[in-house]
Amino acid sequence: MKTGNKKKGITMKIIMLGAPGAGKGTQAKMIAEKYTIPHISTGDIFRANIKEGTELGNKAKEYMDQGLLVPDELVVNLVVDRLTWEDAKNGYVLDGFPRTIPQAEALTAALAEKGEKVDYAIDIDVPDQNIIDRMGGRRACVACGATYHIVNIPPKKEGFCDKCGAELILRDDDKPETVKKRLDVYHEQTQPLIDYYTAEGVLKEVDGTVDMMDVFNAIVQVLGA
Ligand code: ADP
Ligand code: ADP
Ligand code: ZN
Repeated sequence: MKTGNKKKGITMKIIMLGAPGAGKGTQAKMIAEKYTIPHISTGDIFRANIKEGTELGNKAKEYMDQGLLVPDELVVNLVVDRLTWEDAKNGYVLDGFPRTIPQAEALTAALAEKGEKVDYAIDIDVPDQNIIDRMGGRRACVACGATYHIVNIPPKKEGFCDKCGAELILRDDDKPETVKKRLDVYHEQTQPLIDYYTAEGVLKEVDGTVDMMDVFNAIVQVLGA
């Protein structure tokens, strides 16, 4: 026997960075499936809360509709708690969190308490102009959250989800004016995380302008499996 604990310490704690519409959700879903780790999307959590009409959902909606970030205090505890679930013990792919330096610091601190750290911060790089084009064409399933693009990644049957058959809609915050605001917010508050995770030694950049599967292959290379 070489060691009795060869798997010990091998985890995949991944965060996805990139502008709104860069493809974080699209890639995170594929990563989660390939590595059997949960996909944790703060945007999905907020949208589920909005749909259910919870207090958190009502509060979050005020910000989301304006293209603004939901305040850190409404996000951080929610995520830190989610990471303690049993399914997250070997890793996870965080999509849409952290989005500000204080969120990143809170995550680092919460992980450090358990002697852990983020293993990979994958930045999907896409220029602003491509983003504007992508967001207008994004369609999301009302039931299962799957995402499509009317031109780039169309569903088999127009207007309906391939996975569950439910209706596809344009998100309220994907209207052009709101997308512009979200991009400004991204550059101001989220882009600094690229330097933060570079300093932590875990940043990996991939070109997000290429075909969805080519982006995925580049990510798999980075993850080394
Ligand atoms: P996208 O991936 O297109 O940027 P998300 O689904 O990640 O969109 O997020 C939608 C909205 O939810 C954001 O514009 C923001 O208002 C809110 N949100 C999601 N995650 C966070 C977060 N970590 N901090 C603050 N606000 C967030
Ligand atoms: P994010 O989670 O970063 O906001 P999404 O994964 O929702 O981004 O992708 C935004 C839009 O772009 C969606 O309509 C999606 O289908 C489309 N998309 C994702 N990846 C690509 C790609 N590599 N090329 C073209 N379109 C893409
Ligand atoms: Zn669906």
